[in-house]
Amino acid sequence: MDTQRRPLIGGNWKMHGDGDEAISLANSLADARSVAELVVFPPFVHLGVVTDVLADSEVMVGAQDVSPHESGAHTGQTSARMLLDCGCTWTLVGHSERRHELGENDSLCAAKVTRALQEGLNVMLCVGETLEEREAGNAHQVVQDQLLESLKGCSSLDPGRLALAYEPVWAIGTGLTATPEDAQDMHQALRKTLSGRYDASSATGCRILYGGSVKPANAAALLTCPDIDGALVGGASLSADSFLAIASAAESWTSS
Ligand code: PEP
Repeated sequence: MDTQRRPLIGGNWKMHGDGDEAISLANSLADARSVAELVVFPPFVHLGVVTDVLADSEVMVGAQDVSPHESGAHTGQTSARMLLDCGCTWTLVGHSERRHELGENDSLCAAKVTRALQEGLNVMLCVGETLEEREAGNAHQVVQDQLLESLKGCSSLDPGRLALAYEPVWAIGTGLTATPEDAQDMHQALRKTLSGRYDASSATGCRILYGGSVKPANAAALLTCPDIDGALVGGASLSADSFLAIASAAESWTSS
């Protein structure tokens, strides 16, 4: 992590928990103070209650997905404006579970990124390779292609509004984690790609998070890498203690 960039720690609650559990988890985060920016991504049906609980807190709320459409006859979809109206400030785009379970491709991700940014939502764009792609030696190419294709509609990059999450698919929810060296290598390459596509200062300002079985025990080793600016946390974000312990790992690094 570079001290010019404020660390960002995201908690992806995925499709876990009922309303009471979401309120209770949000309540346990409400007084959190951190050097890192914190954002949680609850299931859609709990966004209203979670934004209420966290309204006066430092913890931001995001959605796990957003529609590429402005409004209209799009059954089951949720627009960026609806999310903003309900108190969200962020959305995930391109999480691998949506790419792989629902067949979301880069052009759909690009439409979502463009729409969300246009309407005023901040975007956390997820990219990552499968195990087969890594073993075939294609990880860098795959991830670079996802990045460039998903940003096709963005002629400029506002690093305050767009963050990346590098999440190797084989590390999500599996207990396997990329080594800090491999993760750093990919983050550095992503930053270089951003610099080529936009400019050096946007690339330097953009937060690139690592995701894939991040836990309190492995967070510090990852977050000390110069191009890893935070974490997107799935399983370990379902406990306030472990989520905040990961945020503290960012804290001890930035203050050291
Ligand atoms: C995720 O949901 O983006 C994720 C990285 O999950 P986990 O931390 O459980 O691997």
